[in-house]
Amino acid sequence: MHDLVITSRRAVLPEGERPAAVAVRDGRIAGIHAPDAAPEAAERVDLGDVALLPGLVDSHVHVNEPGRTHWEGFASATRAAAAGGVTTIVDMPLNSLPPTVDVPALEVKRAAAAGRCAVDVAFWGGAVPGNLKDLRALHEAGVRGFKCFLSPSGVDEFPPLGVEELRAVMAEIASFDGLLIVHAEDPELLADPAGPGYAEFLGSRPGESERRAVERVIALARQTGVRAHILHVSSALCLEPLAEARRDGVRITAETCPHYLTLAAEEVPEGATQFKCCPPIREEANRDGLWKGLADGVLDCVVSDHSPSTPDLKVPDFAAAWGGISSLQLGLSAVWTEASWRGHGLGDVVRWMSAAPAVLAGLDGRRGTAGTAGVGVAAGPTGKEAAAGPGGKGSIVVGNDADLVAFDPGAAQTVDAAALHHRNPVTPYHGRTLSGVVRTTWLRGRAVRDDAPHGTLL
Ligand SMILES: [Zn+2]
Repeated sequence: MHDLVITSRRAVLPEGERPAAVAVRDGRIAGIHAPDAAPEAAERVDLGDVALLPGLVDSHVHVNEPGRTHWEGFASATRAAAAGGVTTIVDMPLNSLPPTVDVPALEVKRAAAAGRCAVDVAFWGGAVPGNLKDLRALHEAGVRGFKCFLSPSGVDEFPPLGVEELRAVMAEIASFDGLLIVHAEDPELLADPAGPGYAEFLGSRPGESERRAVERVIALARQTGVRAHILHVSSALCLEPLAEARRDGVRITAETCPHYLTLAAEEVPEGATQFKCCPPIREEANRDGLWKGLADGVLDCVVSDHSPSTPDLKVPDFAAAWGGISSLQLGLSAVWTEASWRGHGLGDVVRWMSAAPAVLAGLDGRRGTAGTAGVGVAAGPTGKEAAAGPGGKGSIVVGNDADLVAFDPGAAQTVDAAALHHRNPVTPYHGRTLSGVVRTTWLRGRAVRDDAPHGTLL
């Protein structure tokens, strides 16, 4: 007897989209059957033409708790995640206080999150000047990898690494085969905006700055052998060096974000700093380049970089406003809206937003094999392998956690910032009509409910 069987004519499995009945027992996917051969279960859900997806894994979320909980906290962020079809988030090490740069700070953060989370939560650590000695202990304590900046981060307590510090951090992380994730903008090519408008802000952070930083990370990754990942690629200028490095076997992956794929500099309204983020949203032609990068497999993941603040920090001056976009609840629909128009299927979206980020963060259930070779490949563990470790995330395969989403790809929604679950009602998607609506989110086989959060800390 199973706990739950969910049937859909559009189950998005690693091998493609097909009718299937997914059987759940003890929080795991216990079987994938033809719809007319589904086993007995205590509860049955028939989704009809509503698609069944694996829960999304958003490996780039700034929760900000503790310390800046008025910007965003674990309860509100994870409710937003669940409502948007995201069943696992990986929290960034900065903007919370203290930043997650040593084991005591990780313990503080875990204590702040415990019992409050509607979805599963894992953590990134930070690599900053002076904490080289803490990296191995953080790795052993369970962080999924280490974030660093090459340019100022926006908060004083999380300074960037210089070139020699970066080299030393890479060598240290390589020594335990960890992962370094990099905010890649070269500070030498950044400037203070010449005025308050979007054009001046965009001009102050050119794509060449991203490309130069990516080239530096690649050069040092070649030397040290470290696994490296480029966060939030906004400039298509980065694609060529990334593709070349991967052809050469450098262990490097990259992500982009829904806002770079769906918004464009030309359409940012005057003073609308809810569109401000670093690196910036660039022109339409660049956006087309990013889509090509995804189609070519040079970009692996699409993750939110949800980085909220209170509305008062979003002053109508692009030079002065806080840089960060709030979109955790909307990424799936925003990306699906644009992806479907560009000829991509749900399988592509699931690969970019669930399977690849799960592999990146080592949450796909194939422990010890979370190298770059696996990113983008949705093949999951067999039931036998999975039984040995924690349940995997990121794909509908037997043995993985039953993190599942009912997604109605043909329905539409018009975004009302005030109706979203994240803490402050600010988002550049306000007023937009997006395709695709999340109907239900299951975390380990149980429907997520606001009044009884059952997320765990991974
Ligand atoms: Zn970020």
